[in-house]
Amino acid sequence: MISTRSVTIIASVFTLAACAAKPVEPVSEPDHAILWAAHAVEYQAISMQVYSQATRDLRELVANSSWSALPGHEGPSNKPLAVILDVDETVTSGVDMELTLEPFSNRRQFEWNLSHKAIPVRGVAEFVNAAKKRGVDAFFVTNHTCIPVEGNSDPCPQEKSTIDKIGEVGIETDADHVLLVGENPDWNKEKLSRREYVAETHRVIMLFGDDYGDFVACSRAKPSAPCTTPATRASRIEALDTYKDYWGNGWYILPNPMYGSWTSVQ
Ligand SMILES: [Mg+2]
Repeated sequence: MISTRSVTIIASVFTLAACAAKPVEPVSEPDHAILWAAHAVEYQAISMQVYSQATRDLRELVANSSWSALPGHEGPSNKPLAVILDVDETVTSGVDMELTLEPFSNRRQFEWNLSHKAIPVRGVAEFVNAAKKRGVDAFFVTNHTCIPVEGNSDPCPQEKSTIDKIGEVGIETDADHVLLVGENPDWNKEKLSRREYVAETHRVIMLFGDDYGDFVACSRAKPSAPCTTPATRASRIEALDTYKDYWGNGWYILPNPMYGSWTSVQ
């Protein structure tokens, strides 16, 4: 006769065998950064706050003909006016992309852009249209990168997809106003040379971005020309004080807890 104890042991063996056969489900932690960008109305409120503040500041910065948002370019100028905006997380939100595009590559980003409709950052279209009404041109300086695509004769098909993306959020633009990495030989991930390019023909009155590099040169862990030294957490904090008068006064930063140059500096 089988004892109660034996029955318990046999049952336990079968239970363990069943557990061994079933693959262990990984416990996935929620990514609070992506959840926040995707669902927090706080994010949308901050974006609206940034762009409505900038819209109010337009009158003063347009009127001050000696003002420039680019350090070193102050002084009287009669050039046409411009603002410079980054694209990802400044004009369009990439929360869907962050959820689906692992591992990231420029090629996969290009393909994703072709097949997904842009999510607008709140307030940006209203701002750009208000700026245009005051005669201020908008340039888009993005680290989307020119990469030839097989079967496509365009050397930079990413430019058209970026223009289309910006159009989807209600901002009409063209190739002269969208500046990508690799479009010119000296246009690399360091955005300084592209800001200087716009400044050759325009008085730049405002900068917009979600990354420190959209404002401050040489703020990336992997330096690109003309920068030679890797940025550090300490060097970035130092720059915060150097340029303290610009924040909210010509420089307007949007939040991005999901990715950015801040993640790789030490
Ligand atoms: Mg960005």
